[in-house]
Amino acid sequence: MSNVFYRNVNKNYLEVDHGEGIYLYDKEGNKYIDACSGAAVSNLGHAHPRIIDAMVKQAKSVAFSHLSRWTSTPIQELADLIASLAPGSLSKLYLVSGGSEATESALKMARQYYMERDGKTGKYRIISRWKSFHGNTIGSLSMTGDKRRGKYTPLLLNFPHIAPAYCYRCPFGKSQDTCNVDCALDLERTLKMEGADHVAAFIAESVGGAACGAIVPHKDYFKIIREICDHYDILFIADEVMAGFGRTGSMFSIEDWGVVPDMICAAKGMSAGYSPLGAVIAKEEIYNTFKQGSGVFVHGHTYGGNPLSAAVALAVVKTLVEDKIVENSRIVGDYLLAQLKEKLLPFSYVGDVRGKGLMLGVEIVKDKVTKEPFPVKMVMAEKLTSTLIKHGVIVYPGNGNADGENGDQFLLAPPLIITKNQADELIEGMVAGFTEFDKNIGS
Ligand code: PLP
Repeated sequence: MSNVFYRNVNKNYLEVDHGEGIYLYDKEGNKYIDACSGAAVSNLGHAHPRIIDAMVKQAKSVAFSHLSRWTSTPIQELADLIASLAPGSLSKLYLVSGGSEATESALKMARQYYMERDGKTGKYRIISRWKSFHGNTIGSLSMTGDKRRGKYTPLLLNFPHIAPAYCYRCPFGKSQDTCNVDCALDLERTLKMEGADHVAAFIAESVGGAACGAIVPHKDYFKIIREICDHYDILFIADEVMAGFGRTGSMFSIEDWGVVPDMICAAKGMSAGYSPLGAVIAKEEIYNTFKQGSGVFVHGHTYGGNPLSAAVALAVVKTLVEDKIVENSRIVGDYLLAQLKEKLLPFSYVGDVRGKGLMLGVEIVKDKVTKEPFPVKMVMAEKLTSTLIKHGVIVYPGNGNADGENGDQFLLAPPLIITKNQADELIEGMVAGFTEFDKNIGS
């Protein structure tokens, strides 16, 4: 019996042996397409020589020095590179070790920003959306809007949630033709009801990931959100922990909506799984407010900004730019989305195929016409994703139909280096898995 405390204590886990490119191999020598990059993390695939070289070089030089006293060349270069790539005045890099630490840091940065600017503590609440995921620490979980909250209430109090931008199941009963982007206007309604004086920020994933299977908001959504945030004097935080650094076909996903948020949260693809890292990229104005105020952001995590992770991220981001990986994400992503629509939508139980770049999602339903979901206890997403493993395809574990109202979903997010031929191989495995699942659907 294993002494590892796994997340799901009753599940059998595959034991990984090694990885190469988009593939992972288990101890028995079986090969799998890592069609979710772990958790949308391994964006450059496995065993990338340039990243390994950068890791070894930095480890031989210095792996750790603490940010309380030291900066380092990789941190400085990484910050300069990101400042040159990020939109608007988003140029100040605050480093942590993962996504939850990034959203947690943004939450505290927003609260302290208003204290520094106005000299008062009243703006403390953060508004987020249902069907969102922002992390598993209590602060980030309080912003999260999905089933992961359930066992941990009470969370941080007074964190309101607004409707998701979920076009397949519009919460306002609208269609594409009648859409008035009510899901964005819901932020204004909530601010009026709750009182904007107490709200520091609104946080949202640009493309929704772990809680919803790649929901892409309407093209006007974030313009409206930006206007509302400006009007009511609250900060807009784009959580790009999953969608950032090329995943959706742009370096920063929010750029596709033509708006500049006040902060971007990043992690995952920024160091592509070679070393834990997360970040808040803040606007210069926010940084200057701290500089002119107390001069101290009262926060920090031990491993934040360690030279090894910074050197890895520097090599990763340079590779994304120099090898045109972001363009590849857009081109192969468009191809994969079109192919998946063509090949999967004919299955009677496939309700929706969606996404942007290489952040794609599939939603399955009992009845395609009414969109009635499968009963929760059938755990269909889990069954389908387990069937896909038999066909050599590993997707992001299905997010089951937890509330009984939505369909079961899963994410498809292969490494951004995937070629068109490998995309065809992936589609072949998916179709084989979906066909087998189709035969056993009632059992
Ligand atoms: N925010 C988003 C959008 C995520 O997708 C995730 C993880 O999936 C997180 C935050 C939390 O990141 P981590 O698991 O690194 O703490």
